[in-house]
Amino acid sequence: MSRFICGKLSRIAPYVPGEQPRDKRYIKLNTNESPFPPSPRAVTAASQEAARLELYSDPDCTQLVKTLAKRYAVNEDEIVCVNGSDEVLNFAFKAFCDAERGAAFPDITYGFYKVFAEFHDIPYEQIPLNEDFTIDIKPYLGINKTVFIANPNAPTGIALSTEQIEEILSSNPDNLIVIDEAYVDFGCESCVPLIKKYDNLLVTQTFSKSRSLAGARLGFGIANPAIIRDLNTVRFSTNPYNVNRMTLAAGAAALEDEEYTQTNCRVIIENREYTARRLAEMGFKMTPSSANFLFARHPGVSGITLYLKLKERGVLIRHFDAPRICEYNRITVGTKEQMDTLLNEISKILEEET
Ligand code: PMP
Repeated sequence: MSRFICGKLSRIAPYVPGEQPRDKRYIKLNTNESPFPPSPRAVTAASQEAARLELYSDPDCTQLVKTLAKRYAVNEDEIVCVNGSDEVLNFAFKAFCDAERGAAFPDITYGFYKVFAEFHDIPYEQIPLNEDFTIDIKPYLGINKTVFIANPNAPTGIALSTEQIEEILSSNPDNLIVIDEAYVDFGCESCVPLIKKYDNLLVTQTFSKSRSLAGARLGFGIANPAIIRDLNTVRFSTNPYNVNRMTLAAGAAALEDEEYTQTNCRVIIENREYTARRLAEMGFKMTPSSANFLFARHPGVSGITLYLKLKERGVLIRHFDAPRICEYNRITVGTKEQMDTLLNEISKILEEET
């Protein structure tokens, strides 16, 4: 830390991304990326755009917004495009929370919500999940705070129903409810259509998971036009060229190749169910996942031991040290081959450890 850093920043604990080690080639099941490459159409579009990099990108993201509006059956002024959905979440903390209007989110959820709240000096309440890791919606009803809920939640993979989200929305008419749908394409119902009914709903989504574009950094928010204008105020006050030319082109092309995305999602869901079945046969306890990952613990091996032993064997999964979940690991669902390697290695570890 330099002696120039301002007081507040010196006390912040930044978000810790999943490790990206370079010492050897791992089977990477730790950051919920897609195991499949981007659509060939996205790759071609991005390469063609590379030849125009002397020009700034379109700050209005016109073509991508048009394509998104068509795909999600909303109007163009109901969409904002961002540099990964982390950015729209950051903008939402900046635009819709302050010292008076704090934030609320589950105690176990995407770790960035707490980091953003601290970064922007926003008071926040972490509402405990139920014992079985489901979200109890009662504390959110009429809470008078800006609410952030990942649906499905991470790292549990458990989804709320649209009816439950509607209860939260209708009981908080004067507060923004942000529903983070990073993993929605793996079997959870989206609440995008609800933006027409509730003017206090912001839905965020990403191209990082189901569309295999994590490295391109592309996300978007969908909400009524007034909310989108507020988010654009933050965007144009920080970085109007937040989405680069190659990413804009890749995103629009990936959206045009919906069949590729849908096929990959179907395969990941099949692989998730297959892996969950095999893990259950080996004695693992899991939460019911609607996402591209499983959240699993084994009564006979500690969470950290399983994580370290798998890493030694070239398979990376994600371990968290928070006390409530430290016996669990989050395992990204990959290809069938990757899952079989994982399962083989786990069965050898269980033989050694139990
Ligand atoms: N929300 C959740 C729940 C996530 O797990 C992630 C991925 N780490 C994000 C948002 C952000 O994804 P991205 O910035 O890649 O769009």
